[in-house]
Amino acid sequence: MKTQVAIVGAGPAGLMLGHLLHNAGIDTVIVENKSRKYIEERVRAGVLEQGTVNAMIDSGVGDRLLKEGLQHDYIDLRFNGEPHRLNIKELSRGRSVWVYAQHEIVKDLVAARVGYDEPLYFEASDVSIHDIDTDKPSVRFIHEDKEQLIDCDFVAGCDGFHGISRGMIPEAELRVYDRQYPFAWLGVLADTPPASQDVIYAYHERGFALQSMRGPDISRLYVQCPVADTVEGWPDERFWREFHARLEISDGWHQQEGPIFQKGITGMRSFVCEPMQYGRLLLAGDSAHIVPPTGAKGLNMAIGDVQIMTRALTSYYQEGKRDFLDKYSDTCLKRVWQVQRFASMLCYNLHRFPEHNQFEHKMQLAELNNIAHSRQAMRAFAQSYTGLPVELFYDLE
Ligand SMILES: Cc1cc2nc3c(=O)[nH]c(=O)nc-3n(C[C@H](O)[C@H](O)[C@H](O)COP(=O)(O)OP(=O)(O)OC[C@H]3O[C@@H](n4cnc5c(N)ncnc54)[C@H](O)[C@@H]3O)c2cc1C
Repeated sequence: MKTQVAIVGAGPAGLMLGHLLHNAGIDTVIVENKSRKYIEERVRAGVLEQGTVNAMIDSGVGDRLLKEGLQHDYIDLRFNGEPHRLNIKELSRGRSVWVYAQHEIVKDLVAARVGYDEPLYFEASDVSIHDIDTDKPSVRFIHEDKEQLIDCDFVAGCDGFHGISRGMIPEAELRVYDRQYPFAWLGVLADTPPASQDVIYAYHERGFALQSMRGPDISRLYVQCPVADTVEGWPDERFWREFHARLEISDGWHQQEGPIFQKGITGMRSFVCEPMQYGRLLLAGDSAHIVPPTGAKGLNMAIGDVQIMTRALTSYYQEGKRDFLDKYSDTCLKRVWQVQRFASMLCYNLHRFPEHNQFEHKMQLAELNNIAHSRQAMRAFAQSYTGLPVELFYDLE
C-alpha cells in the first residue's frame, strides 16, 4: 500500500498526528502492535494543558472532553503542613488545566479514525522501518498472518520509549541525555470522591504525595516510594496510612478511604534524544523524550510535537516548502528542554532524595516558599504548569 505518512504507534502522539493530518488532507496509515482494547484501557496520564485541550476541541474531537473533563483553575501546593492555593488561571492570564484521562483521549481519537475509515492496523507484529535516508522510506509489518508493506514519503516514529523508531537513527548521529531518579510513584485508582476539587502536590518529610481525580467519584492518588518496591509490598492499609500522613494538614482536611481497584508503580526518568529527525524519519512523544510525571507533561509534550509536525508537513505538502520540516527537530527541542527544566525543578523540589541532608531539605522548602509567595515566581510556575504554547517556539525561529 502507499501513503504519504506512515505512523508507527497508536498512542496519543500517533493517533493525534493521524487526526491532525487527516484534517489537513494528508493521507496516513497507522500501525500499532497492541490491540484496540489494550490501548483504550491503558491507564496513564490525566492532566491536560490548555494547549492540549484546545487542540482536541479545535480539531473536532473535544466533545466528550468538554462534557466529562474537569476544568481546574487552581492547584494546591502543600508543604510544612500548610496548603497554598494558586489561582493558575489568573496567574497565566486565562489558561487552565483539565483532568481527563489519557485512555479517554485515545478512545476519542480511535473513534474519530474509525469514523472516517482511514487505515489503522492493531496487533501488527514484526514492525520494521526501512530506507529513511532515501526519498522512498517504507514500513513493513505482519497483520493477520499476512506481510504488509507501506511505501510512504515520511515515517512518523510515535512508538513510545520502548519502540523501534529512535533506534533507526545511526548511533553516530544520536545524542542521548538521561537521568534516572532514586524513587518511584505508587499510583492507585480508588472508588471514593476526591476530598478536594484541586489537584494537590504535597512535599512532606515522609516523601511526595499527589491527589488527583478521574471524575467526581474516583480519586487518582500517588505516594513516592523506593524504586525497588513492589505492588505486593503495598497493601491498601499501608497505602492509606502513608497518603493520610503526607497530605493531612492542620485544618482537618481528610481524604475518605474507598476500595482501591487499580495499583501500579512507575519509575521516574528524564530522557531526551537529539535530533528528533533523521532523513525521512520524524520522532514525536515518548519515542524522543521522557519527563518525570511530577509536572504532568509527558502526554502534553507528545501533543505539542505532533502539532509542530503537522505544521511542518502541511507546509511541505500544501506550499512545497521544506523550511518548517527541516527545523522540526530544533523547534520541538526548544520546547522539550523548557518542559524538562520545569518538570525537573518540580521533581527535585517535591521529592525526598535518599542522599539529601537537612541543607537540601531547607533549599527545597525555600524554593516552594518562593513559588507560593513571590508573585513573579507564581506567574512563571503557572505559565509552565498550564503549558507553554507551541506558537511561542515558532516565534523564536
Ligand atoms: C505507567 C505510566 C504512567 C504515566 N503517568 C503519567 C502522568 O501521570 N502524567 C503525564 O503527563 N504522563 C504520564 N505518563 C507519560 C505519558 O503517558 C506519555 O508521555 C504518553 O503516553 C506519550 O504518548 P506517546 O504516544 O508518545 O507514547 P505511548 O503512549 O507510549 O504510545 C506509543 C504506542 O506505540 C506502540 N508501539 C510500541 N512499539 C511499537 C512497534 N514496534 N510497532 C508498533 N507500535 C508500537 C505502543 O503500544 C503504544 O501504543 C505515564 C507513562 C507511563 C508508562
